[in-house]
Order: sequence, then structure tokens, then C-alpha cells
Amino acid sequence: MSLLIKNGRIITAADDFIADIFIEGEKITTIGKDLSMPADKVIDASGKLVFPGGIDPHVHLDMPFMGTFSSDNYETGTRAALFGGTTMVIDFILQRQGHSLREALNEWKGRSDNNCIGDYSFHMAVTDFNEDTKKEIRTFIEDEGIVSFKTFMAYKGALMIDDRQMIGLMEEVKKHGGIINVHATNGDIIDYLVAKFREESKRAPLYHYLSQPEVTEAEASERFVDMIHYTGCPGYIVHLTCEGALNVVRNATRRNQHVFVETCIQYLLLDASLYEQDFEGAKWVMSPPLREKKDQETLWAGINQGLVQVVATDHCPFKWEQKLLGKDDFSKIPNGHPAVENRMELLYSEGVHKGRISLNKYVEVACTNPARIFGMFPRKGTIAVGSDADIVIFDPEEKHTISAASHHMNVDYSGYEGWELTGKVKTVVLRGSVAIDNNECLVEKGYGQFIRRNKVTGNL
Ligand SMILES: [Zn+2]
Repeated sequence: MSLLIKNGRIITAADDFIADIFIEGEKITTIGKDLSMPADKVIDASGKLVFPGGIDPHVHLDMPFMGTFSSDNYETGTRAALFGGTTMVIDFILQRQGHSLREALNEWKGRSDNNCIGDYSFHMAVTDFNEDTKKEIRTFIEDEGIVSFKTFMAYKGALMIDDRQMIGLMEEVKKHGGIINVHATNGDIIDYLVAKFREESKRAPLYHYLSQPEVTEAEASERFVDMIHYTGCPGYIVHLTCEGALNVVRNATRRNQHVFVETCIQYLLLDASLYEQDFEGAKWVMSPPLREKKDQETLWAGINQGLVQVVATDHCPFKWEQKLLGKDDFSKIPNGHPAVENRMELLYSEGVHKGRISLNKYVEVACTNPARIFGMFPRKGTIAVGSDADIVIFDPEEKHTISAASHHMNVDYSGYEGWELTGKVKTVVLRGSVAIDNNECLVEKGYGQFIRRNKVTGNL
């Protein structure tokens, strides 16, 4: 099977030029002007942008959490991602405390194997680091191609590890060429505030927000940044939301420390005023919560300053009836919101179209940096000879409106209902196959492959 994409405006993190792309099998084999080789299929991309498939390195599909499961499984989640121009996601495996990493990997494979439409990988969340877990780190990196390990500084008794475990894990991960991801919030302060508000009968979604003030994130981020500086382990802060936490990273760059920062699309576009309605605010109950307008500006600036390298989603959808589990108590509302389908179009419309970031920066934070940071570049994340043919053909002018009535995520509301966007995904190619065209998905469940990743250095 061969495919020729003609006359598109090709955008990578570094380039911007009009040319043709020739694809044989799953790979890009030639890029040039006026290519004339015969192809099984030809797509005319005149007037369109052509960029690498998006990579969302932060999603939770079919994940057991707070007594229920996130409502997108591997099939619906990766299909929705493809409709939105994201050809690959990285999901999270959660170790159960007292059990091995291997057990968790097997459990997650049971849900994901042969069920994905788009490509995927896993981060391994280490919730119990001990002598046995320590021995598993090398195997995960070298045999499984899973090189990133997630840690939680919150959710005591379920997911959190203490600083002693954190340092031990960092030393082991560094030794074998991996990277540590962190959910950096101070769990003890949050637990205190949650208990206090509940006792005072303050149980509306607003108190979810008030129980995770900026200081909880800034403090934990600083502790994490200091610990990775001390151990020399590559580090990545997931879903950074606020000025206080970003300032910690900015300070660390003064000692030439490299720490990677991910924010999520919702922290750039939405703010905490959404919690001021009654239970409706539960749609945006996530951790960390949405912040203030000033934090949005800080994060956009952080992208342009090179302090924020990745825009992800933390896609973790729950249907409205699941959100109602917390109707009388904010601490029982399943945390998370749907966004995997909307990330690329929202970031284009609000970022590029509105002049906040350049086209090259757009590709860098949504496609290229996730591949580089997590050991998949240049197979993924760019348009180059030899790379996987994961390609989005995008109409930069077409206007459309986000709605739960037309989205493909398995959830009955949208956090962006009625938002009018400029720029739409038209065609998506995944490893040489046309996966999305004319608003139709053309690949089957099972097409999505698990992508083994390489060791990383902590540099871009
Ligand atoms: Zn998450």
C-alpha cells in the first residue's frame, strides 16, 4: 500500500514548506516537490496544513478510580483521539499497593490488548516502592519498552509515595535510563482541607477547588524539582496549572536544571469561576482544579518561554450519572474531564488562530516534544523520511462548534459545549493507513499498536 499526499503546507516543530509526501507501508519514504511516483492512493492537500499526528501523553482510559471506571475504554478513547488529530496516547498503569508492577501491567494489558484503534503506550505509576519493585524497574525499561514512571505526592493510602521512596525510585530509574513523572501536590495539606470543609458541611464542587490552593502545587513542585536535581534523574511534572509552580521551574533553570513541564488544554482555557455554579461545576472537578485567569496567562507565556514543553489533556471522562456520585459531597465526585478529542483543535483555534503561539510551537508542544521526552523520536512526533506516517491534514479556516451531541468520546457532556472553533481536522493517517476521512473512522479496533519506547536522557 502506498499513499501520496500532494501540495500540503508541511509544518513540523522546525519547518514550514509546501511539498509532497510519499508513504510506503507504514513509513514516510520521500518528501519533495512534484513527486511523480505511482501511488495506490493520492490525497490533494492544497490549501491545507499537514502536520505530525498529535501525541497526548496523559490519558486515563477504562481506569478504575473512586469506585467506578473512566467512561472511555481503549476503543472509544483512541477513536475519539483520532477524530481530533491525536494518533497516539500514553495511558497510565496504576500499581496496587502491596502488589507488583507486573501484576498491574497484566491487568492493564487485559483491558487494552487488541482493543485500541490508535497507537498507545503506558506510563507505569509506582505507588509502592520497595526492594521487590526496585528489581522490576530495569525489566520495564529494557524488556517492556516502558521508560516513564509516574509518582503521586498526594492520595495517601492509595497512590502516594513518601519522599524516601521517591528518592530511591529516582536513583533506580536514573540508573537504567528512564524518567519520573510526578503529580506534584501536597497531599497532607489537601487531606486536611478536605476534612475541614466536610466537617463544616461545605460540600459543593467549589470546595474541591478551595481544598487544593496554589500553594499545595507550588510546594510539592519545588520539593520534586529539588529531589530530581539532587539525584540527577530526568523529571517531568504532569498537569502543571499555576504561576507558583511554574516559578519553581523557572528558578531551577538558573542552575541549568532541565525539568519538563506539561500543562493541559483546560488550564490554558478555563478558569475557576466555573465552580461558582451549583452542582454543574462537577463537570470540571479534576485534580489539580482549574485556576485563575492570571495563571492562564502565565502558562501561555511559559509555552513561549520554553518552560512548558507539552500540552496534554489528562483525559479522564465520567458520565454525568457517575459525577452524581458526589452530589452531596465534593470529595466523592470522580475527578476528571473529557478532552482527548478536542485538544488539537482547541489549541489551534485558541493558540495559533488567536496569535498566542506560532504554528511551529503548536506542533512542538502537541506532537514533537511528547515523542522526544518519552523516547519515541523520530519514529513518532515529526514528518521526516523514515518516520511513521502519522499525519494530520488540517483545514485552518473551517469553523465548527464543539458539542456533546457530535463528539465521539463516550461521555454525555462537554466541558466546552458551544465553543466555536476555527480550524478542523479533515484527514488523519496512522502508520500509512487513512484512519479518519470525511468524519468517518476507517480503521478497526485492534489496528492501534503498543509502541515500545527507548531510553531517555532528560534533554530535549
Ligand atoms: Zn492524570
